Amino acid sequence: MQLPGSPFFAYHNGVLCADGLPLPALARQHGTPLFVYSQNAMLAALAAYQRGLHGRDALVCYALKANSALAVLQTFARAGCGFDTVSGGEIQRALRAGAKPETIIFSGVGKTRSEMRMALEVGIGCFNVESMFELDMLNAVAVDMGVQAPISIRVNPDVDAKTHPYISTGLTSNKFGIAHTEALAAYQKAAALPGLRVIGIDCHIGSQITEVAPFLEATERLLDLVEQIEAAGIPLQHVDFGGGLGIDYHGDTPPAADTLLQQMLVRLDARGMGQRKIVLEPGRSLVGNAGVCVTEVIGLKPGAVKNFCIVDAAMNDLPRPAMYQAWHAIVPLQANAGAEASTYDVVGPVCESGDWIGCDRPLAVQAGDWLAVMSAGAYCMSMASNYNSRGRAAEVLVADGAAHLIAERETLADFTQRERTL
Ligand SMILES: *Cc1c(COP(=O)(O)O)cnc(C)c1O
Repeated sequence: MQLPGSPFFAYHNGVLCADGLPLPALARQHGTPLFVYSQNAMLAALAAYQRGLHGRDALVCYALKANSALAVLQTFARAGCGFDTVSGGEIQRALRAGAKPETIIFSGVGKTRSEMRMALEVGIGCFNVESMFELDMLNAVAVDMGVQAPISIRVNPDVDAKTHPYISTGLTSNKFGIAHTEALAAYQKAAALPGLRVIGIDCHIGSQITEVAPFLEATERLLDLVEQIEAAGIPLQHVDFGGGLGIDYHGDTPPAADTLLQQMLVRLDARGMGQRKIVLEPGRSLVGNAGVCVTEVIGLKPGAVKNFCIVDAAMNDLPRPAMYQAWHAIVPLQANAGAEASTYDVVGPVCESGDWIGCDRPLAVQAGDWLAVMSAGAYCMSMASNYNSRGRAAEVLVADGAAHLIAERETLADFTQRERTL
């Protein structure tokens, strides 16, 4: 059977394995729904970036909102990554996982004063500023603390990333960044503020981008601005091209990170900017195909129009189909010769018609069988909720040939402990 994405999840003797470890044994030991990640798959994805950046002054900042499990962050910190964060909580998480503060960058359209203060106190590497008002706010916080905030301005290059509208961020109509037409004025304003120290420029045009062209367009736009801004007497130490590289969910054919980088770097070299520090903010492409969600079939419900295969994972564990009509491959952990083949909508127990994981899927399954929802390493657990008072799933990371429980299944006690009855 052809599985999307990663060679680290494959059938051995008819049993689906994560990096060689049979998934049924993990499901039996830890229960379901269960996320299983492969550390080797993460490091292999990172290696493609590292190959592409070989010989350059570069920092890969893993965008941890894709998967913020501490053990995953530890994996990337130890491999030399910095972190792209979008909240105070993410900064604290990165630090807890061993990140060096100066490798942390802080993006986001709505940073609060208290988040700014905390980030300055711990000494993060760069604030990616997304609006004019944020320049003033950050300046005021920094001046009040008697420090200077290192900043980059997130420029919106007005490039169509050709991805789902909910994950496109680089168009003029999006809430992110400062319009490229206003970038120079923003830099002049920033350079004049005593609490800010301009160190770079950045962009991030969207997510799950599977074509090269939008990245090259954004690269050219950004480099045009670097020339303009430096001509105005404001030097920029680094150029941050953001994240957004897609993965194979369903026959998608994104470029490999090293191939993409090679093409982007040609553009840099052509303008004599090859020596400049390069920052990248990949999220999905480092972890998306490094994880699966194992779920048990609760029961089958045949109908006149649809057959439903009801499983114990739901939209609170796997929110992408409900949010973006996203497609995840769904495959059995092992073939069930006694089960009849049929076409099913695979759905969870949550009381929402939007609670589906995959529609019209051919499967031969019975109650009690295990299925793997593939490509579940990014934007699944990190978006998981307690909706319907469901505890969040357990997580296992396969590393150095062994399975490590990196997050216990959440209990009712866990998620009600902050509540008070009258
Ligand atoms: C989400 C995000 C990323 C990562 O995007 P991916 O598509 O997961 O690579 C990078 N930078 C910023 C600012 C983001 O918000």
